[in-house]
Amino acid sequence: MTWDYAPAPESRAIANLKPSYRMFLDGEFVEGSGEPLKTINPATEEVLAEVSTASASDVDRAVKAAKRAQDKVWGPMSGAERAKYIFRIARMMAERSRELAVLESLDNGKPIKESRDVDVPTAAAHFFYHAGWADKLDYAGYGPNPRPLGVAGQVIPWNFPLLMAAWKIAPALACGNTVVLKPAETTPLTALVLAEIIQQAELPPGVVNILPGAGDVGAELVNHPGVNKIAFTGSTEVGKIIQKSLAGTGKKVTLELGGKAANIVFDDAPLDQAVEGIVNGIFFNQGHVCCAGSRLLVQESIAEELLEKLHKRVSTLRIGDPLDKNTDVGAINSRDQLTKIQDLVATGEAEGAVRWTSACPLPDKGFFFAPTVFAGVSQAMRIAREEIFGPVLSVLTFRTPDEAIAKANNTPYGLSAGIWTEKGSRILWAANQLRAGVVWANTFNRFDPTAPFGGYQESGFGREGGRTGLEAYFDV
Ligand code: NAP
Ligand code: MG
Repeated sequence: MTWDYAPAPESRAIANLKPSYRMFLDGEFVEGSGEPLKTINPATEEVLAEVSTASASDVDRAVKAAKRAQDKVWGPMSGAERAKYIFRIARMMAERSRELAVLESLDNGKPIKESRDVDVPTAAAHFFYHAGWADKLDYAGYGPNPRPLGVAGQVIPWNFPLLMAAWKIAPALACGNTVVLKPAETTPLTALVLAEIIQQAELPPGVVNILPGAGDVGAELVNHPGVNKIAFTGSTEVGKIIQKSLAGTGKKVTLELGGKAANIVFDDAPLDQAVEGIVNGIFFNQGHVCCAGSRLLVQESIAEELLEKLHKRVSTLRIGDPLDKNTDVGAINSRDQLTKIQDLVATGEAEGAVRWTSACPLPDKGFFFAPTVFAGVSQAMRIAREEIFGPVLSVLTFRTPDEAIAKANNTPYGLSAGIWTEKGSRILWAANQLRAGVVWANTFNRFDPTAPFGGYQESGFGREGGRTGLEAYFDV
């Protein structure tokens, strides 16, 4: 017997959507002199709002405003004073959490239960956590009175729009830097509501500036001589361009890039729990997750049983309206991303992997892709090597633990990995050998502001979060 769920949509009125949004520069909302962009709801393809964008001269004004604010106000301010402002931002985010969650789901396409339970609370948690550091920096392990860098130029992607803004802004402010941030072109709205919060929290003008726009605005910001530090999250391709353009400039840089994480299931793992972790690992946020568990490595002796359980479980995922509280998998963020997923899935079929796709009904409007699992994947296939950034899992098998590690590490990336086993000794053994910045054991996709996050190799360098993450914002 199957159960039908009655629709349980959140009201979009909660989002307080405005017809147009302006950029935030030197404490004011102003019209940018770039061509305005229209941001859409990827679940319906309707235009949500028009957003003004920055030109090169706006970037220049923002960087100069940030520099003034850093020199005159934010840098000299005591850590205890800065903490009060950051704490205020955290509290105001929590107060407006429903509004932010609905707006995030509208602009990005992610299910409301994720924006409500993960994105917004974790974003607020980053401000709470860093407010706690601001008056204790002398004890952070970077020497007495560690010095800020100055102006941080920050560029973020569309998959966790508010959360990535929080990851970037909170540590920069705690350490005494000021910020110019460029949100992603397809998801600028929650960052601009965060700007409203920052204005209402009465941060001094210029301490945080938020400039929407496309990649050219990002490039302008990265290359502006007045910026002292670059923090970038996005694709490996753009990360390489940024690193090249910064070589020799003396700017400090951290890059959080792509991934192709191995999620390893050993034969002694509790299978039902592992299935939940695999589903969370790859179908959370439609698989638009840099640290997604997109390569499942399963021990051969249990592969058949595990796949059967996995198909059964994935068949129950509900795809559809992101604002419906019952929705498990929402919309793909853009038509471009949907095309990229479709193309890579086609290469998987052409290269001979065995495709299984959930028979779940899909809405007839908007960008959707049904959860898909490829079995019989070999290491040379593109779906085993390239980041799909969608709800598509590639399954490979292994016979011995050594083979599992060799296959897991056979990737140009190195952001995250998962281990499923009931043996603690095996967890420690495997975690020591996996070349990944984050290793989860018997869980996956856990985010916590106290834990450093970041990659190896083509997944980038530098860490965000925790005590370690502060280093990126100090002159050390
Ligand atoms: P992307 O194309 O690299 O874009 C990221 C950001 O950079 C966007 O704001 C983009 O603007 C901007 N940008 C584009 N070209 C630029 C340039 N030449 N100079 C400066 N900025 C530029 O990546 P995406 O497709 O939005 O995001 C998906 C990627 O991000 C995936 O590969 C994923 O793995 C990675 N990611 C990594 C992490 C992590 O922590 N490691 C977290 C999330 C996502 P537009 O919006 O106009 O394109
Ligand atoms: Mg949008």
